[in-house]
Amino acid sequence: LPKNPTTLKPSTPLEQPNKSYQDSTDILDLLVIGAGPAGLTAAGRAGSLGARVLVFEKNREPGKKLIISGGGRCNVTNAEVDIHRLVQRYGKEGKRLFSVLSGFTPSHCIDFFQTQKVPVKIETEQRAFPADNKSHSIRDALVRYCEHNGVEILTQTPVKEIQGVLGSTMLDHIEVANNSKDSKHTSSESPKIWRVTTSRGQSYYGRSLLLATGGFARPETGSTGDGFGWLETLGHTIQHPEPILVPIRVSDPGHDKLMGLSSQDWGFSAYDPTGTKVISARGKILFTHFGLSGPLVLNHSLQIQELGKLWDKHSGQTQSSSNLSQKTKKYSSGFQLFVDFFPGTDHGTLDRQLVELIQGSSRKNLDTLLAVLIPPRLVSQILSTVNIPGDLKAAQLSKDQRKTIIQYLKAFPRRYSGRLGNDKAIVSRGGVDLDQVNFKTMESLVCSGLFLAGDILDFDRPSGGFSLQICWSTGWRVGEVVGSRINTKTGSKLDTKVSTG
Ligand SMILES: Cc1cc2nc3c(=O)[nH]c(=O)nc-3n(C[C@H](O)[C@H](O)[C@H](O)COP(=O)(O)OP(=O)(O)OC[C@H]3O[C@@H](n4cnc5c(N)ncnc54)[C@H](O)[C@@H]3O)c2cc1C
Repeated sequence: LPKNPTTLKPSTPLEQPNKSYQDSTDILDLLVIGAGPAGLTAAGRAGSLGARVLVFEKNREPGKKLIISGGGRCNVTNAEVDIHRLVQRYGKEGKRLFSVLSGFTPSHCIDFFQTQKVPVKIETEQRAFPADNKSHSIRDALVRYCEHNGVEILTQTPVKEIQGVLGSTMLDHIEVANNSKDSKHTSSESPKIWRVTTSRGQSYYGRSLLLATGGFARPETGSTGDGFGWLETLGHTIQHPEPILVPIRVSDPGHDKLMGLSSQDWGFSAYDPTGTKVISARGKILFTHFGLSGPLVLNHSLQIQELGKLWDKHSGQTQSSSNLSQKTKKYSSGFQLFVDFFPGTDHGTLDRQLVELIQGSSRKNLDTLLAVLIPPRLVSQILSTVNIPGDLKAAQLSKDQRKTIIQYLKAFPRRYSGRLGNDKAIVSRGGVDLDQVNFKTMESLVCSGLFLAGDILDFDRPSGGFSLQICWSTGWRVGEVVGSRINTKTGSKLDTKVSTG
């Protein structure tokens, strides 16, 4: 157990009682498990509407995954202004998000952070980043927003157990609702109060509970699936976890020397075992120590994995098959991926450009000449693969050699050897069954007063700021709903104490 829980106390509470919410006999308006982007957004918004909110976070600091997001730059949203188009980016289930995405749009997100003194800039493919390229700025702004609105955040405080507690107003005794696997909740018997017990054995009570414990990706950041276990116990169906955005491995000798090379606009293609091109796309690719990453590769990682399986299945056949295209046969000793360093230029044009270069610098060494076109590390890799010496004078390059180089510039082959482990996924698919969530309120349809936001929801989402946008939009909606409920007559102002006797 962590020895000292750290409390981030509200610095300037707005109309909040001047005392800690850690008094465990209080019934608070909202308990939030998980101080990631979804939990913090919900907490801050509910707090701004007058709710008394306590957040539990098992890590030393809030937003650990947020800090590593976007390579430490945090691709905070995708600045798509058309909500219909935005919704489409979330696949066939995306329409469920229409209401929350309309309520807190990417523009709202950008305005929100600007208001929190974190200017946001838009880059290619409408990816939005903090202007200072620091994910810490986003995380810190969220924590400040929470603090400003009287939210209390308990870090180093893992939640061990949640329980629905039956009761209505002042509780003389607490009865644990039937939250065992044998007796599942129905809406009619849903608890009115939620009890959260930390691993230190301390209990807290809330009229509403938000599970913002994240998904399955990168468990070392804290998202270890605790929320799914609780939800299952409470009668929810959890879809099997499956990583969807995962970097891939390649097995080409010397590939590690290319680590760090990247471009916003390279092409990427892959063929099935019959030689049919099934992936052809352009965008950001990153060469890593172990293989390939970057949004373009990540967004195709599921499809690449499926193709890999297909190639495995047909491996015997592919060696001998006569219906393979020339291109596939030429490179093929298994499944390969092809990077095009000049996606906007066809073979003929590129060849003419190379000829012009050679004519202008015929005495230069070939490697020096090619370094005008591509990074020197790539030049060495290509020339050694095709057995052309780098110190060959440009004028001595034969036509066949030139064609081979062009071929590699347009389709640099990388031999696929699998995806990285599930623990390295950027985003995982799987989570609570979406039919069990009311997407107007983000409340569970199985247990009232239980809210869900962020990665705990089972949505497909591409790379490009779309994951975090779900967190902002769903978190914001939870905050609004909780805030509106306490501002009605039956709000918690009437009964704020629990007798634990
Ligand atoms: C490497 C990487 C890069 C990414 N980059 C981007 C990007 O640039 N743009 C983008 O849109 N998305 C990105 N994502 C995805 C994005 O980070 C997630 O969608 C987002 O963090 C999910 O937020 P969340 O609040 O739902 O959950 P999380 O951020 O996972 O937060 C959940 C929190 O709950 C806490 N918790 C869990 N269980 C308990 C418990 N029992 N008790 C107490 N606390 C608990 C965890 O410690 C954690 O802090 C990236 C993901 C990864 C892994």
